[in-house]
Amino acid sequence: MSIDLNSLVEHDLSGECPVCRTQDIVNIALLPAAAAWELNNGLPRFALALHGAAGLLAAMLEEGVPRTEIETAMSALLDDIESQIDEDSTMGGPPQGTA
Ligand SMILES: [Zn+2]
Repeated sequence: MSIDLNSLVEHDLSGECPVCRTQDIVNIALLPAAAAWELNNGLPRFALALHGAAGLLAAMLEEGVPRTEIETAMSALLDDIESQIDEDSTMGGPPQGTA
C-alpha cells in the first residue's frame, strides 16, 4: 500500500484547499478541546497536544507508512506553518475571526 503524503501536505489553490480546511478544523475544534482536557486533568500545557499528535501519527505507522515519510511531511508542514506565523506577525496578528 502506498499513501501519497505529498498530496496531504501541498496546498491546492482552490477555495476548498484540503490543507487549509483541515488546519481550520484543528484550530477551531481540536486545539481548544486538547487545551480543555489538559486543564481539567491537571496535565502540563501541550501535553495532550503533543501526545495526541504522536498518537495520530502512530496510526499512520501502524498502517505501514514509513517513519521517514511522516517526518518529511511533518517537517514540510511545520515549515509552512512557521512561515505563516511570520507573515501573520508582520501583518499585526493571527488571522482568526473568519467565522
Ligand atoms: Zn491551502
